[in-house]
Amino acid sequence: MRTDKNKLSIWLALLLGLGFIGTSLLSYVMYRDAIRESIIVNELPLTSKNVYLELQKDLLRPNLIASMMANDPLLQDLMRREDKNARQIASYLQEVKAHYAVTTSFFISEKSRIYYYADGILKKVSPNEPRDAWYFRVREMAAPYEMSLDPDLANRDAISIFANYRVLDNKGEFLGVAGVGLTEETIKQLIRDYEARYNRIVYFADADGKITLSGGDAGLDGKNIHDLTGRDVQAINLQVLREGVFRYGQDGRMHFLNTWLIPELNWYLVVEKTDEDALAATRETLYVNLAVSLAVMALVLLLTNMVINRYQKQLEEMATTDKLSGLPNRRSFDLIARQVMHGAQRTQEALAIMLLDIDHFKEVNDRYGHLAGDEIIREVANTVKGAMRHSDILSRWGGEEYVALFKGCDRENARLLAEKFRAAIATRQFTHDGQTITLTVSCGVAQYDGLETLEQWFARADRALYEAKQTGRNRVCVAG
Ligand code: GH3
Ligand code: MG
Ligand code: MG
Repeated sequence: MRTDKNKLSIWLALLLGLGFIGTSLLSYVMYRDAIRESIIVNELPLTSKNVYLELQKDLLRPNLIASMMANDPLLQDLMRREDKNARQIASYLQEVKAHYAVTTSFFISEKSRIYYYADGILKKVSPNEPRDAWYFRVREMAAPYEMSLDPDLANRDAISIFANYRVLDNKGEFLGVAGVGLTEETIKQLIRDYEARYNRIVYFADADGKITLSGGDAGLDGKNIHDLTGRDVQAINLQVLREGVFRYGQDGRMHFLNTWLIPELNWYLVVEKTDEDALAATRETLYVNLAVSLAVMALVLLLTNMVINRYQKQLEEMATTDKLSGLPNRRSFDLIARQVMHGAQRTQEALAIMLLDIDHFKEVNDRYGHLAGDEIIREVANTVKGAMRHSDILSRWGGEEYVALFKGCDRENARLLAEKFRAAIATRQFTHDGQTITLTVSCGVAQYDGLETLEQWFARADRALYEAKQTGRNRVCVAG
């Protein structure tokens, strides 16, 4: 019975759990996929396009300024009488720097190899000096300009983005290199601004995937995209970076990245977003769902358990209790009596049973009706029960017959008890439907002899009862 109940509880928990948790998880997964889809299709391309356009504008500004310088007749004029104009060249550069808010502005003359900057003359460049190698690189370049990331010699070697323009005079002769630079820190700050504004991770990488510039907060500088993306299949296909949308999973989050080529730098702008924030609300819903499911499950299990327990108790009662009198029935009396007999055999305690039978009960039924008979059966039970010790047991043996078990009681005491019950009933007036009914009972008493079986003991009490009936009823007889 108990294991059946446990089995039922386990099955119920399993079914409910599967139902509730399954649907919660399923809807979470569906939501998550929809969210990821929308990140890929809508959100990410849109915002990264914005970042791309704005950053490109920021990065190309130095390019525009340098281009303006390279084509400025005023600068070309100053260069023609370079030896006399050193101060004017410096103030020209000073003005460019102040007006366009760049970190550095410079001009290197091919003729004199002098490096002019906003504060005057910095130095002379030399082909033997590795730090000046960039000048000789630009000097030989076929393209009119380059964007590069180099240390700024005029600015404590801070790494800077330079726009380096070749300056030609109107006959096409190479006059030198003009340009401006923004420190890396300025760009990093820009990147951080975009990251904060769009809630994305933003960085630049070259075609090999090496991260060339980032906001610095995510610790990405110097790493390679392929290190970040791990062994993710889609990312491994990114051996050579190209434009597009990619994804990789890491630490249980899905990262989505959108790449755009910035041709001037030959760098890719990478805008990255995880599904973390977008999923947070859905995950919260999942947790709430799961909590509610668990609560409902617990409640259902509790209720079914309560109902089952109640029915179980009722069934047990039905099996052991006589419905009419509320007394233990024959079956449970049998069980209890055998236990008590065993105990008494050990302790040598005196035991007695008493059989009690209502006299001429058929007449009660005949005269007052069956319902009155039932009422009498109940009332006799109550009367006897009320006069008994709590530790003694009274049971309805069947019909209008009762059996009582007295513990620690020899035949004489049992006889006295039986006599007390007999007298109590004989003097009592029962009523039914306003009618008064009097009746008597006969009792047979037997003390347990310590050896006999329950049946033998019982038979002796029955014979004593028979004797009481035979000798006139309304009396107690004791078995010898
Ligand atoms: P005696 O003095 O010899 O015991 O006579 P008696 O009429 O009591 O004896 P008998 O055993 O012949 O009859 C018992 C009657 O009790 C018969 C039956 O109709 C009635 N009876 C048995 N069980 C119930 C019951 O649950 N309700 C009612 N109303 N009557 C019952
Ligand atoms: Mg009888
Ligand atoms: Mg009778």
